[in-house]
Amino acid sequence: MHARVLGSAAGGGFPQWNCACPNCSALRRGDRRLAARTQDSLAVFARDDAAVLCNASPDIARQIEAATVLRPRARRHTPIHAIVLTNGDLDHVLGVFSLREAPPLAIYATASVKTASLARFTGQAVWRDLALDRDVELFGPAGEPTDISVRAFALPGRTPGPEDNVGVRLTCGRTGKRIVYAPRASYATPEIGDDADVLLFDGTFWSNDELVRLGCGTATARDLGHLPIGGREGSLALLATCRARRKIYTHVNNTNPVLRYESREQIEVERAGWDVAEDGLEILP
Ligand SMILES: [Zn+2]
Ligand SMILES: [Zn+2]
Repeated sequence: MHARVLGSAAGGGFPQWNCACPNCSALRRGDRRLAARTQDSLAVFARDDAAVLCNASPDIARQIEAATVLRPRARRHTPIHAIVLTNGDLDHVLGVFSLREAPPLAIYATASVKTASLARFTGQAVWRDLALDRDVELFGPAGEPTDISVRAFALPGRTPGPEDNVGVRLTCGRTGKRIVYAPRASYATPEIGDDADVLLFDGTFWSNDELVRLGCGTATARDLGHLPIGGREGSLALLATCRARRKIYTHVNNTNPVLRYESREQIEVERAGWDVAEDGLEILP
């Protein structure tokens, strides 16, 4: 099994069109310590002809062009067989609209993600249920095998229901390798990734009051359902004993100082054994 980070930024991307925070401004000035990022999505493959996407961002068309392995191999073709949605946030689902030229896509989502925000995709999608805490084998729209199974687990936070926001554990049917993907999490316990080869975790904000302090908003990280990375109650501390072989922060907001190479925060994350995802990062569990 292998995976490719298609996009590693939180909603809005990096730079964000209406943002002049220190990171966005520095990137526009050409600061080489920063790299542009598209919005969060992960492609996972157990076989090269069958891609499973975790979330579909508004940047999907650009992300497909940038990834040789996702390009069409016939006049009308896509290796994308299934899309797994972790919640109904627009930055995770809008990409489905951009894929409407294809035959219906197989979309896996919990009942509440489907009904809350996605009834609009009727006719364009073959919906399949993502039950919590159960391994579900993933197939393309016409039953094409992907050799990947997924287990969704509840990550409640800003939204009340257990099915409104989930993390997913993807298992390779051939090798047994596991990737855990949790781009929005309001809490963390080490067990979330203890049995994973790779853990991709919510790296949206460094601190709880980041948006407020930078004058970019009034909501805290926790208001928005995101556990910050830093601090005594942050994910870096809470996941310090997590036994995942590799730990990667993704879904990073443009305001997060961890985006700048050699910032104090980026060094702290690296010293703790974590990586910060970049667009195009190839992962071999
Ligand atoms: Zn998001
Ligand atoms: Zn910004």
